[in-house]
Amino acid sequence: YLPPPSRHESNQDGLLGGLLVPGFDEQSCISRYKSTSHLKKLARSPSTHLVKRLREQEALQRRCGPGTETYRRAAERLGPRGNGNGTTTDDDACKYLVLVPYRGLGNRILAMASAFLYAMLTDRVLLVHRGTSLPDLFCEPFQETSWLLPPDFPLGDLENLTGEVPESYRNLAREYGRAASVSDLPYVFVDLDHACTYHDKLFYCDDHREFLHRAPWLVMRTDGYFVPALFLNPAYQEELDKLFPRKDSVFYLLARYLFHPTNKVWGLITRFYDSYLKDSDERLGIQVRVFDGDTPFKHVLDQILACTSQEHLLPEVVAQDPGPPASTAGARSKAVLMTGLSSWYFENIRGRYWQSATAAGEVVSVHQPSHEEHQLTGEATHDMKALAEMYLLSMTDALVTSGWSTFGYVGHGLGGLTPWIMFKPENLTTPDPPCGRAASMEPCLHGPPFYDCRARRGADTGKLVPHVRHCEDMSWGLKLV
Ligand code: GDP
Repeated sequence: YLPPPSRHESNQDGLLGGLLVPGFDEQSCISRYKSTSHLKKLARSPSTHLVKRLREQEALQRRCGPGTETYRRAAERLGPRGNGNGTTTDDDACKYLVLVPYRGLGNRILAMASAFLYAMLTDRVLLVHRGTSLPDLFCEPFQETSWLLPPDFPLGDLENLTGEVPESYRNLAREYGRAASVSDLPYVFVDLDHACTYHDKLFYCDDHREFLHRAPWLVMRTDGYFVPALFLNPAYQEELDKLFPRKDSVFYLLARYLFHPTNKVWGLITRFYDSYLKDSDERLGIQVRVFDGDTPFKHVLDQILACTSQEHLLPEVVAQDPGPPASTAGARSKAVLMTGLSSWYFENIRGRYWQSATAAGEVVSVHQPSHEEHQLTGEATHDMKALAEMYLLSMTDALVTSGWSTFGYVGHGLGGLTPWIMFKPENLTTPDPPCGRAASMEPCLHGPPFYDCRARRGADTGKLVPHVRHCEDMSWGLKLV
């Protein structure tokens, strides 16, 4: 007699090595515990220290989050009746990080993962500006509280803050030692746009414990994955080493913890996966992102074909009609998932395997969930499809991505996959080589600091520590390996 497994036991496997806690209402967010039924086993396990710090962060979010008296008082200080002085003398008071993510969904996901890690390193409550689609995309990551910035938050027009405002870190860094100090400001604004200035980027060298911790509110605007820069700051090194003994899977673990698609998006994911991908022997993902315009380009199609042929990812086809087809019973099947705004690349590749037989007899099916034609960021259905497709890419066995694309970074990072990256074409020409294997599954930071925090001077930041290197697809970018 085998007793039926209790709900708790049956969930054990779904907890991702302690990344997740049981107890959420499963029906309200099916993907949280059920994603494991569609995923390969964990590519990397979380360290015990990471698991402990996540539980502490969850407790902090609950103790200080929206709806609590502490939050109300802290927010009040920012409002019209606040005294304009943000300094808190109470060491137990809660401190907040308000994140304003922007640009496409890939950018926003990378920004949220980075801000979450920064919040955890600096004991801040993370609150995310919801924009127009965030609640349609993701479940709440923390129990009994919300990570969404309440709509009645006293500071308005957050999306239009720039490094020029008096509250900006840029000004504090420029005028360091002069009159303006953290204590005089209701909040500090950190501008980490990929095109921000030298003074903005000094934030990456900031020792929060000495300086910024006096600011109860940090408002941060970013569109990218700034985690590699945190690994260059001596202030966080010891803690980051404990959190992530392996440096190549920081995004993977943070993303598996934070980003659980809503039931609607999970429906898009699972229906597509079960219909077109599940039963194949192998799954290959090809993410096509073109930055030169939305019209089809032959040099991009050539690049996809050159890359997949060179790396033996797609089977060769035979030019000659091989005569009556042999039986395909027992033949290996390969499902190819393509994503992109255009359907032209997909139709060409699907046509290739329709019109010609494969040399070794594999059966190749090619699928693309959507072709939106143009980027419509912020529109809920459009963003939901984008998320579903990033997630589907993460469920493949091998993945080819487009260089410079944060959409692609999320696809491979979420899946724990080390991709083949197609280098960004210059002058509308297929690059040679067309692609190369990435050094790790980590995303690339596009707007890195060029400053050595220890030596206090400019430096090649891809050479300071062994685990932070330049990216394969962007020579000045930085990534963890
Ligand atoms: P990046 O611009 O490639 O770094 O990626 P982002 O995700 O930040 O921005 C691109 C946006 O364009 C996406 O978020 C989608 O809105 C749209 N988009 C680009 N490629 C695709 C695709 O393959 N599928 C879908 N559904 N949308 C895409």
